[in-house]
Amino acid sequence: MLLYRLGPEGFYAATDPEGDLRFLHSDPFGTQAGGWDFGRKVPEGRRTPMVPVRPSKIVGVGRNYRAHAAELDNPMPKEPLLFLKAPSSLIGPNAPVVLPPESSRVDFEGEIAVVLRDRACRISPEEARSSILGVTCACDVTARDLQRSDATFARGKSLDTFCPLGPAIAITADRDRDLEDLEVTTRVNGEERQRGHVRSMEWGILQLISYISTFMTLEPGDVVLTGTPQGVGPLAPSDRLEVEVSGVGILENPVELWQGG
Ligand code: ZN
Repeated sequence: MLLYRLGPEGFYAATDPEGDLRFLHSDPFGTQAGGWDFGRKVPEGRRTPMVPVRPSKIVGVGRNYRAHAAELDNPMPKEPLLFLKAPSSLIGPNAPVVLPPESSRVDFEGEIAVVLRDRACRISPEEARSSILGVTCACDVTARDLQRSDATFARGKSLDTFCPLGPAIAITADRDRDLEDLEVTTRVNGEERQRGHVRSMEWGILQLISYISTFMTLEPGDVVLTGTPQGVGPLAPSDRLEVEVSGVGILENPVELWQGG
């Protein structure tokens, strides 16, 4: 089941059990996915996906794949390395990632994003399973030079347009296996640059949600970026960036230089 927010109004729509995309009459954060109330079919001309959720915060996880930590000459942390991305960095499918004049090295980091359904405070990994709404594609765009020059990741991770997210949330709530078999692939100009599987994560999705909820309460709609696999690299103007996560679809964004204004 896929959950979309459709533009320009931001109505929720979801695929019904027959696979048809229908407007959703239920609040996806207040009801079990199995009990959703579907409305009429979404007409073809109204299927423009927006950012699928408006989180109160976006939590990032650094160095969750050993091969990626090694490629940047970083040691593996002893516990998950957490950081925050500003919600103002979010963009939806097909919106441009803008390269700012303050950085000369902006990298793509394709990632599996987890969306919370329930409030989560100091929950166990097993409780985490039922608090997750689903997963989507994200790019944790990073100004590598600013990340390295600063004591925190705040500037390097939070520039406007640095968090493409979407196109849909693949609902995993109440299904046991979906979180254990997810793969993320990143392509730039059609060429594969990254491929990672949840099996290669140092800390799995449920462990991460449990760990994060110890240090900050996760709210419904909050997003966790679960780390990037090996193969990160710089973006250039006119690049076409694609991130694909199993069962979700493809998040596609063009890249352009900041033009002022
Ligand atoms: Zn990342």
